[in-house]
Formats: sequence, C-alpha cells, structure tokens
Amino acid sequence: MSATTDYIGRFAPSPTGPLHMGSLVAAMASYLDAKAHQGTWLLRIEDLDFDRNVAGADQQILQSLQRCGMQWDGEVVWQSQRQDLYEAALRQLGDYVYPCACSRKEIADSRLRLGDTASQIYPGTCRHGIAPGKTARAWRLRVPEPELGIICFEDRLCGSQSQNLATEVGDFVLKRADGFWAYQLAVVVDDAAQGINQIVRGADLIDSTARQIYLQGLLGLPTPSYLHVAVVTNANGEKLSKQTGALAFDRGDNDLLHEALLPAARFLGLQLSPASNLHEFWQQAAMLWAKKLHIA
Ligand code: GLU
Repeated sequence: MSATTDYIGRFAPSPTGPLHMGSLVAAMASYLDAKAHQGTWLLRIEDLDFDRNVAGADQQILQSLQRCGMQWDGEVVWQSQRQDLYEAALRQLGDYVYPCACSRKEIADSRLRLGDTASQIYPGTCRHGIAPGKTARAWRLRVPEPELGIICFEDRLCGSQSQNLATEVGDFVLKRADGFWAYQLAVVVDDAAQGINQIVRGADLIDSTARQIYLQGLLGLPTPSYLHVAVVTNANGEKLSKQTGALAFDRGDNDLLHEALLPAARFLGLQLSPASNLHEFWQQAAMLWAKKLHIA
C-alpha cells in the first residue's frame, strides 16, 4: 500500500534476539496504526548497545516481519551507523549536558545517605563539576527544577500523562560510562531525522516519553503523537523479554497466522473472524484497529 497521508510511524526493535510475542504486539500495533491511516511505516534497528546485540538477530527480525506480511516502507536504518548524529545533538545541547564521574556504587551510596533506597533518581553529585581527581565517565542532561519540571502529554490510548522530571527522573544519562549512546538521545534524534510523527509502542516505554519530549524541546525538534499499548506478560507477571526467557514466535515453519498473528491481535483487543490468509488478516485487523481508535 502506498502512503497517501503524512502519517509516518515506525517499529524500532533492539536486536537482542528474535522477536517474541511481546515485540510482535508492539510491531503489530504500530503497523496497524500506520495502515489504518494509509501512512508510512519505517523500520529502525536500535543496535547501539553492543553488549546486548546478538549477531544475526537483526536479519532474523526482518525475516520474521516479512513472514508475517508486515512490509516496511523505505530503507531499514541501523542506529550503529548514525553515531555522528548523536554526537552532533550532544554538542547542540551545550551547557545542558555535563560530565559525570559517579560510579553506580557511588550513586547507590549517596542515595542511602539521602535516606532514599528505592529511588532511581540521580542525586546530582556532578551537576556543578567533577570532584578533583575524578574523571568523566558518562554525560548527563540537566533536568529543570521541580517547579518547572512537569512534562505533560496526551497518549492516544492511555489519556493524559504527566511526569515531573526533577522529582521522578533526575538528570539522566545521554552517553553512558561504557561509551555507548543512551536510548533516550538516539531515539529522539532518529525519530526527528526520519520525520516520524506518530509513535506507537509498548507501555513499558511510557515512562521514557517525558524525557524524550524534554529533549525534543531542547533540540528544537517537533514532538510526535504517542500511543502506548499494554505489554504482554508471562505467568509470573513479568514483561516478555529475552531476560525472562521469552521464545521466538517464528520458528521457521510454524503457522504464524494462527499461532502468532491472531493471538497478538486478540491481545490488542481486536475480535477478528477466522481469516484464511495473511492478506485477509491484515485487512480485517486494520479495519478493526481503525474502529477501535476512532480513525476516520
Ligand atoms: N528499541 C526499543 C525496544 O526494543 C524500542 C524503542 C521505541 O519504540 O521507542 O524496546
């Protein structure tokens, strides 16, 4: 289907292993939303964490999407080939960014001193400079003071959201101590560079959205529209992931329509009647998605 609107969406998997049912649900939601809008659906491989990348997983992901009948538009983009863009964005952020010398242990220790064991918030140790004798490890972004730190957005499915970056997040890392670019920076740079104006992804990332909107503002980039779908969990209530032992939904010769696509569509709340082939499945699913989301 060729694009007839200015809708540009994307699926942005990390190649840490083959796609499982959880990633299929996220892929399907973004694909259906693009199709329901007669929009463009791009594919970006988020392979910046070289320690977590699995060799060949990117090609496996591409093949599984194709076996499901999910054809992306344009060229696939690999984040590992775009590091100059992230470097340029970091430079553009100027004094909003500062070097941080803290190790994980030091951050944990200072949290204990603050009497706050549960919080993940960086205590701001290096905000005003690195202590003598210490060396920069990571680069952090200054978030606004609490009175100015609230970021609000309207999620197309989950409704009004707000997060105070100062009290709920703290100064966050843009370039990690291991030298890798952080997801938050790369995703903002690439979504804008690729002209993405509609983001549909799993609700595990809803908590990252305020950080991304803040970064978009600082970099003078437009804020896309957001829709987060529920994540698939296993019997223990854990999000499906490689760490929790999620299996590939595509085993090369299995019936993807009945074993993967129909269950994923049901998870998204789409009540499909039996479909005999992929074409029929996608037509029906896009229609039901459009109805569910009130897309004219
Ligand atoms: N690469 C991220 C993941 O696989 C998704 C990023 C996004 O959709 O913003 O969880």
